[in-house]
Amino acid sequence: MENTNVKPGLLLVVSGPSGVGKGTIDGLLLKKHENMVLSVSCTTRGPRPGEIDGVHYSFISQERFEEMIREDAFLEYMHVFGMNYYGTPAEPVFRQMAEGKDVLLEIDVQGAMRVKEKYPQAVLVFIAPPSLEELRNRLVGRGTETPEAIEKRLNTVRAELQRLKDYDYMVLNDTVEQAVERMEAILTAEKCKVNNNLNLAETLMKE
Ligand code: ADP
Ligand code: 5GP
Repeated sequence: MENTNVKPGLLLVVSGPSGVGKGTIDGLLLKKHENMVLSVSCTTRGPRPGEIDGVHYSFISQERFEEMIREDAFLEYMHVFGMNYYGTPAEPVFRQMAEGKDVLLEIDVQGAMRVKEKYPQAVLVFIAPPSLEELRNRLVGRGTETPEAIEKRLNTVRAELQRLKDYDYMVLNDTVEQAVERMEAILTAEKCKVNNNLNLAETLMKE
């Protein structure tokens, strides 16, 4: 039976340029906050070495993905260069929020905009690098991309930055520790918003 006393969790959407440190920051937040869960996206691309089905992604076929689109099972999805699909399954997100969990989505800028359209209470956070030079250094340091792929990714950063005004918060990732602190400050602020505390306010008024 649904527990109506549970305060619903937040939907936190994190975007930012590839290599800016989203995975690093989110990983630390998830470790520190037991109440926070990462949404596992579905994708039609194959797993990279070390990626685990159901942990990093749910790796599914194109047929199954398209079936899920027809079933309206995605909160949002995207199709990359006519090749791979990526999508956020809606049911686990809303179920876990109803259970009181804060749900973290790590998705691209366009996906974030679609989530906000469907669920305006979503909190959109853009992670920014101290400079493009530092972003390049991080991408090179991570060692997962060819030099051409790095330049291509850097070229998309300007377009991503143009959408910054549609975000609720910008978190500078200068040091990981400070970036995590800023994310935690956002969580605290959001949880203190009056709109997120109306149940308690009502209870107090009845006392
Ligand atoms: P994203 O998930 O945004 O693509 P990653 O979390 O994989 O980025 O980070 C890219 C690289 O930058 C990794 O090698 C990571 O260790 C490093 N990194 C992340 N944050 C910082 C930081 N504040 N300072 C220096 N290096 C960082
Ligand atoms: P990769 O193939 O490197 O894991 O991811 C490629 C891009 O897809 C990244 O920018 C990542 O943020 C984005 N992505 C991953 N999952 C989703 C999702 O469910 N929805 C959307 N819109 N983008 C996603």
